[in-house]
Amino acid sequence: MEMYDIIIIGSGPAGLTAAIYTTRANLKTLVIGGRSWGGQLTLTTEVENFPGFPEAIMGPELMQRMRKQAEHHGATIVDVNFQSGDFSKRPFTVTTDDNKTYSAKAIIVATGAETKWLGVPGEKEKIGRGVSSCAPCDAAFYRDKNVIVVGGGDSAMEEADVLTKFAQKVTIIHRKQEFKASQIMQDRTFSNPKITIIWNSAIEEIVGDQKVEKVKIKTTGGKILTKQNGQDKEIKPEELGGKQLNSGSDEVEWEMPIDGVFVAIGHMPNSKVFENIETDEKGFIKTFDHTRTNIEGVFVGGDVHDAQYQQAVTAAAFGCMAALDAEKWLRMQDSS
Ligand code: NDP
Repeated sequence: MEMYDIIIIGSGPAGLTAAIYTTRANLKTLVIGGRSWGGQLTLTTEVENFPGFPEAIMGPELMQRMRKQAEHHGATIVDVNFQSGDFSKRPFTVTTDDNKTYSAKAIIVATGAETKWLGVPGEKEKIGRGVSSCAPCDAAFYRDKNVIVVGGGDSAMEEADVLTKFAQKVTIIHRKQEFKASQIMQDRTFSNPKITIIWNSAIEEIVGDQKVEKVKIKTTGGKILTKQNGQDKEIKPEELGGKQLNSGSDEVEWEMPIDGVFVAIGHMPNSKVFENIETDEKGFIKTFDHTRTNIEGVFVGGDVHDAQYQQAVTAAAFGCMAALDAEKWLRMQDSS
């Protein structure tokens, strides 16, 4: 069994930054990168807020550069998935899905987060057949078509923006009457003539035979509201090519034909695979004294523990912190 000083699980900004630091500290480092390595930035287009790139950089290119930098300093990166780990005794062992087992004195968990889905009827079976969570990956399939984006955060604004480059019309369905997204992203959305916003609404069902054909929507507040020229105004389902199904005093049920549904309602931490690492009720790994987990020698960095910031730059910074903490801990083990 091959022995390392540190095994880093995950190859997004947190994992690769951690690897840059551990290798530069002369620690023999293995990165379990995952079969689709690189994390969420590989699914995005332009990154405008990563320092050092005034003209923006494409997400996949940023990740390529981070990987190259980690490899340049000596990290071994394997593009396989983590399968199981025994963190009950040291050295720790990690088994990957190609049935190889590695051991290490310390572990850094940097597995990030993955798409949260709506969980409504018709969604799961149509992923890849009209339901997507990645506009940069799939937008080109919707040239001159009509699509919906669900969500009110920065991801939803970004997905909608990317889709307008191809689609004829993009409708954002959001459950509240205001967005959570940053002001700059909201302003871009409001000023894009291809985007229609529908407030106080939730998709109840995604309908279609082989592919997405229409969605059933429930709107609260008694009438369907959109935002036009800075004002919230009533809109009828017919103006969106749809029709009303039912209405109560507070709710309107209606449907509209649509070619694609892009779900952008946030992410869930990838922590389920780690049986003995403590998490909060949402699955984010609990930290103690910065980047330590409840298991001595197992550290964590990035979106898998960070419910608050979830930025590429903060993930990278957490990866750096985990690496520095792990390095210090290893030194203390060696000297005791
Ligand atoms: P967020 O958690 O910020 O937003 C999720 C949105 O989805 C919210 O509007 C939320 O509604 C809505 N939502 C959540 N669950 C459901 C549900 N079950 N049904 C319907 N709607 C739901 O996630 P994001 O992925 O947008 O962003 C995560 C982080 O990444 C943020 O910090 C963001 O700033 C950052 N980011 C930055 C980008 C950039 O700067 N270029 C691009 C993309 C993300 P509600 O408003 O009611 O809570």
